[in-house]
Amino acid sequence: MATTRDGTTDGNRTDGASESAADTARQQLDRAAAHLEVDPGIIERLKHPTQVHRVSIPLRRDDGSLEVFTGYRAQHDDVRGPYKGGLRYHPAVSEDECVGLAMWMTWKCAVMDLPFGGAKGGVVVDPKDLSEGERERLTRRFAEELRDYVGPTRDIPAPDMGTDAQTMAWFMDAYSMQEGETIPGVVTGKPTVLGGSYGRDAAPGRSVAIVTRETVEDRGDDLADATIAVQGFGSVGANAARLLDEWGADVVAVSDVDGAIYDPDGLDPQVLLTHHEEPGAVSGYEDADALSNDDLLTLDVDVLVPAAVGNVLTADNAPDVRADLIVEGANGPTTAAADAIFDDRGIDVVPDILANAGGVTVSYFEWLQHVNRRQWTVAEVHEELESTMLSAWRDVRREVRDRDVSWREAAYVVALSRIADAKTARGLWP
Ligand code: GLU
Repeated sequence: MATTRDGTTDGNRTDGASESAADTARQQLDRAAAHLEVDPGIIERLKHPTQVHRVSIPLRRDDGSLEVFTGYRAQHDDVRGPYKGGLRYHPAVSEDECVGLAMWMTWKCAVMDLPFGGAKGGVVVDPKDLSEGERERLTRRFAEELRDYVGPTRDIPAPDMGTDAQTMAWFMDAYSMQEGETIPGVVTGKPTVLGGSYGRDAAPGRSVAIVTRETVEDRGDDLADATIAVQGFGSVGANAARLLDEWGADVVAVSDVDGAIYDPDGLDPQVLLTHHEEPGAVSGYEDADALSNDDLLTLDVDVLVPAAVGNVLTADNAPDVRADLIVEGANGPTTAAADAIFDDRGIDVVPDILANAGGVTVSYFEWLQHVNRRQWTVAEVHEELESTMLSAWRDVRREVRDRDVSWREAAYVVALSRIADAKTARGLWP
């Protein structure tokens, strides 16, 4: 099992190999298109990324040797605004994965009604194998290789798995030095001293918590009676767990790369440390039962939040999942095959493109703060995030009701109709 820098796990990738992120994304697009009267030409265009850049990144290692790494930037669609999406450093990064994740960014920005398109990129590397200096040199050279394709009105990277605010600071510095002026708007997720937004780091977890609270209450249940299992106690999982606990829910199980812990009476996620805060803190926790990451997914809980990596809910384990509701904290944790099983079994799955969209939403706030040259307070960020999440959640909820479709299909319907309208208005040229 591979580990990511933020302490999430590579989990179960059993059918991940046969169903790439791009395959899953295209199948989901087809399912959503079936509910809409959209020009088939537009659907066909959306199955293909506009551009995929593949670059070689030579790195001088600390020991004097030279190694060449491969990096990608997939730009899927920009009909509604500049391309937007993270850069990940992970050994499993591939062109196909970047394309699938870029497609999800297009839908995510559209479902949130942000004026952005979708992109994703990364480097095939385990950042744990690099020293800090090597990570800096790799990032600066990657920024230089991508310089012609990115920019505040062109394509705006952000942190993702294995990258963080410091990575964005190096990227922004390399870009700015070559351009001859300081251009903070080229990335989001920067440190706050460089124009980063307060609340950006915790935003994906906060949106997972908001969406969980709304959906649980919408089902007629009380959040205070809900039991929740969170796979991946990294930035997304820990922030979601801590907020849900604060709002009264019982977080009964969490996991990090080394294993899971379970207490039917509820854990205290406020005192539990993430893998990043203290490696091994979750699995080393003694006041709860130990269980495997796979067993956590099939616990008898009300809500399951997969917040580690992609493809952990597969055709293999979907029949055994006992949660009534799944809220996707990670990007692409559910394969299309597992989705169909959950649909048959009446288990609601609130998709990543809505649930974890707090990250890119606060990225948008950061971009606005840059344009307006005014930093928002954390209270302003939380308030705007709450209202943007609620409005998107309601748009999706309306489609779930009106069309009697799954949450994923409903979110795609919302996103796709906005994108299709924009494509129709702009037309095809030449
Ligand atoms: N990497 C994050 C995501 O998957 C955020 C992207 C962004 O802020 O541009 O949504």
